[in-house]
Amino acid sequence: MNIDLSRRGFLKLAGAGVAATSLGALGFGDAEAAEKAHVRAFKLASTTETRNTCTYCSVACGILIYSKGDVAAGEQATIVHIEGDADHPTNRGTLCPKGAALKDIVHSESRLTTPRIRRPGTDRFDEISWDEALDKIARALKDDRDANIVLKNDAGVPVNRWTSTGFLAASATTNETAWLTYKTVRAMGIAGLDNQARV
Ligand code: SF4
Repeated sequence: MNIDLSRRGFLKLAGAGVAATSLGALGFGDAEAAEKAHVRAFKLASTTETRNTCTYCSVACGILIYSKGDVAAGEQATIVHIEGDADHPTNRGTLCPKGAALKDIVHSESRLTTPRIRRPGTDRFDEISWDEALDKIARALKDDRDANIVLKNDAGVPVNRWTSTGFLAASATTNETAWLTYKTVRAMGIAGLDNQARV
């Protein structure tokens, strides 16, 4: 028989088993039943566990996100708990105060969840769809590159330099994503590439 049991689940079961067995062995059968009746349900029971990376800084700590709601059944999943990933080589389950407060950021009323645009002649930001935002970004990049790309320097040496646009990437990411970002940005000729960790 295969039993799919996480380390956390194992510890919980082991703890409950020891308590119940001890009470039973001491002849407190009723106490055991009463104990069971008052034990709170494990708060992460029936949640979905998702691995991710803290979005804040270049340390890129591993986190475990627990959500409730069956997405496959059309329900909206809600994040109910976030904690450090004990199996992550960077942080081994620990989080700094910012990382420990991630759930509050996720649920913050002031958190932006859609792109916004300030159109010419107005002082307010309007929400737009991701498709519209990406189309606008692609159009602006293409127009600026076409207008400002430097193909050769004064000596006639090909340089393919695009210095009128910069790119701010994210450091809290995987090696593979960072590699792809670097290749994409440099392939376009962008010289100004940076991220929040200055690495
Ligand atoms: S938990 Fe703290 S140290 Fe770790 S990535 Fe997030 S902000 Fe950085």
